[in-house]
Amino acid sequence: MTTPVTQCLIRLHEEHHSLEDYQGGVPRWCNGCGDNAILTAVQRICRDEDLSPEHTVFVSGIGCSSRFPHYMSTYGFHGIHGRAFPIAEGVKMARPDLHVFVNTGDGDCCSIGAAHWIHAVRYNMDITVLLHDNYVYGLTKKQASPTSPKGLKSNTTPRGTDLEALNPLTVTLGVQNASFVAQAVDWIPEVLYEIVAAAYRHRGFSFVRVIQRCPEFLPKMLEPWLQDPSKTLLLTHEDGLQLSPDLERIYKNRREHDPLDIDRAREIASSDDVIPVGILYRNPAVPCYEELRGAGQARPAERIRAGLEAELDKFTVWPDEAVEEQAVA
Ligand code: SF4
Repeated sequence: MTTPVTQCLIRLHEEHHSLEDYQGGVPRWCNGCGDNAILTAVQRICRDEDLSPEHTVFVSGIGCSSRFPHYMSTYGFHGIHGRAFPIAEGVKMARPDLHVFVNTGDGDCCSIGAAHWIHAVRYNMDITVLLHDNYVYGLTKKQASPTSPKGLKSNTTPRGTDLEALNPLTVTLGVQNASFVAQAVDWIPEVLYEIVAAAYRHRGFSFVRVIQRCPEFLPKMLEPWLQDPSKTLLLTHEDGLQLSPDLERIYKNRREHDPLDIDRAREIASSDDVIPVGILYRNPAVPCYEELRGAGQARPAERIRAGLEAELDKFTVWPDEAVEEQAVA
């Protein structure tokens, strides 16, 4: 017979999760790929926030980053191209009690999925979104994406892209009901962790663009930012990002930024000389769609069946009419 102390220890062990509880398959990303850093940060956050794996869902579209759900030992849905947002919204509407994450890439989100992205921001459902932005389609072997910088030579633009890149931060900040917008980079893991953790804790649609390296197809593109810390602007605030003394010694280009100030957030998001890193905007007062619609309220099976039958009846060819029609013919 177990003593109360032993029972307590058993319960603690059962209730508190370790990192291994979230680790799924062995990642197949290339060596040095920034996706690995994002996966590590997310698994640590799941452990530290003690998310129950059976109440956590990762939804993705198509692309290198969209293999993410395979590497988490939680529920997951590897969706179709550009459709991660509506799938995640469906999950949240049916089960608002679940922790829902979306992993999407710059092609998946900003090209084929752009319409879903805009409306997902407006609906402001309580979903944590990680945009893995490597400026290129990696899975289909180096094709230009909407965030590719102007002039980038790729397999679809051998003479260089003609258009200015789309800026995912300014787009998101321009949508009605935006409630959380942040930017992180894969090569400062401590800050990546803090920003994604803040996004998870935000009640609403939290959008984090993570600039990630693709050493396979753009090995040198982010080198200037890795070599020169002054090219990264750290946004700090008592209600935002706070840096450790070690990071303060390295990253001296810092600015106090209140995440409630959307005009300043838009101005910072437009910077093209530095990469801003931190929480640009956070407004916890924006209502969540699933709360406005009373999502997740149980509907009796009979009511669901009656509704389905009423819909299907609209397409019924009634036997008597069919017989009469045959007789006339
Ligand atoms: Fe990562 Fe690029 Fe390899 Fe894709 S192609 S796994 S983005 S390094």
